[in-house]
Amino acid sequence: MTEADLSRRGFLATGAAAALATTACVQTTTTWKPAAPEVLVRRQGTVCLVGSQNTKKRALELAYELHGKGTPLLDAIVKGINTVEDDPSDHSVGLGGIPNEDGVVELDASVMDGRTGLSGAVASIQDIKNPASVALLVMRYTDHCLLVGPGAKQFAKHHGFKEENLLTDDAREAWLHWKATLSDKDDRFPKETALLPKDVKAWFGITGTVNCCGLDKDGHLSGCTSTSGLAFKIPGRVGDSPIIGAGLYVDDDAGAAGSTGRGEANIITLGSGMVVEAMRRGAHPTDAAKEALERVVRFTKMKHLQRADGKPDFQLKFYAIDKKGRTGSFGMFAGEQYAMCDEHGTRLVDCPGLFGG
Ligand code: ASP
Repeated sequence: MTEADLSRRGFLATGAAAALATTACVQTTTTWKPAAPEVLVRRQGTVCLVGSQNTKKRALELAYELHGKGTPLLDAIVKGINTVEDDPSDHSVGLGGIPNEDGVVELDASVMDGRTGLSGAVASIQDIKNPASVALLVMRYTDHCLLVGPGAKQFAKHHGFKEENLLTDDAREAWLHWKATLSDKDDRFPKETALLPKDVKAWFGITGTVNCCGLDKDGHLSGCTSTSGLAFKIPGRVGDSPIIGAGLYVDDDAGAAGSTGRGEANIITLGSGMVVEAMRRGAHPTDAAKEALERVVRFTKMKHLQRADGKPDFQLKFYAIDKKGRTGSFGMFAGEQYAMCDEHGTRLVDCPGLFGG
């Protein structure tokens, strides 16, 4: 957000950024322990990012590098997220995302800026591969929080985005296979395994999203979440990613959080908002994320959402950073990783879970 944008919205800058306090860089493991005593003093002005595993090193590194060269952190995060949206081999977001049940790729994304308290989002947008960038423009050039479907696409085109077919051959074959194996009462026959993309069945029920939140050199927080949503979803289904308070929430006074996994469970429990509220009370980001997941378990009462042992039958993960630059993540199930980046470099860290992997 430029200064001109700020004045357009009547935003009054409130003096110097809060000094960054000492902070702990808690190295989490899949066997979760309460947050360790603070061990690492983070220098004032240190930039720190946390994100989903599929941000890979490049997305976080790019955001870190661009911010170091003067790009506002939210813009830099969106550029990092764009690298994942542009990657056809990531089937959870952007180009190559797994389509809806009609074979159409529909994308959701959101951004939020702690400095201004503003957010922007798009949902069910088609043919535009970088919904995160469109969400940023919604925040910056409209007085709205969320544009959906054809309106979101038209808005993107007005801002110069090109329409393109986001359904890659691999994703189309996976969708065809899904249709052909849904029922033996229709007229479609599945192709032989040798003709299918590798591991195509692993894409069924696929969950995945890309999220990144960060603390900038002036102590402001921001975040972005982008996704193609659940594989083979009902057309028009919107997940948690573009819902502020669910798939993303940022409060400069407390922290920032985002999520990947079953969006419906997150929307119902206001997940990212809850993580931020726990950090406001002083909880470490890891503990805050764990608390939000315990709430999700409490809300998972229906049998069709439970495994035989009564545990939720879905994954949901939160990624969080607080105003001190402490980062953390927690999953419903352990066994995955999250990414973080700071002055010590970019790394993947084991993500603890409420339940074993
Ligand atoms: N959270 C995304 C959604 O529900 C999907 C995912 O992360 O797997 O749309």
